[in-house]
Amino acid sequence: MSGRRDVNGGQVPRDAVFIDVEVDAALAGDPALVAKLTEVCPVDIYAQNSDGTVRIVRENLDECVLCELCINAAPAGTLRVLKLYSGESLPAA
Ligand code: SF4
Repeated sequence: MSGRRDVNGGQVPRDAVFIDVEVDAALAGDPALVAKLTEVCPVDIYAQNSDGTVRIVRENLDECVLCELCINAAPAGTLRVLKLYSGESLPAA
């Protein structure tokens, strides 16, 4: 585990210590799909810019409950939830 910060003690950055999300450009720029993401995520990780594109609410990332609702709302393969602490991602390969 080279270079990994010990998240169990000491100072840790506020944003995205445990979770990150990757959204494909096509999904990120689709206002209808982005609206769906903002509706389904129970912890408000997705927001919508005035031009309809997605904005990731980074301060909420670590509230992710791994429910996969966003993944199920998006076209297959266009959205991934990354578990930074384990190197795994959802949906599972
Ligand atoms: S897995 Fe659930 S909590 Fe996490 S970003 Fe997706 S919808 Fe939000």
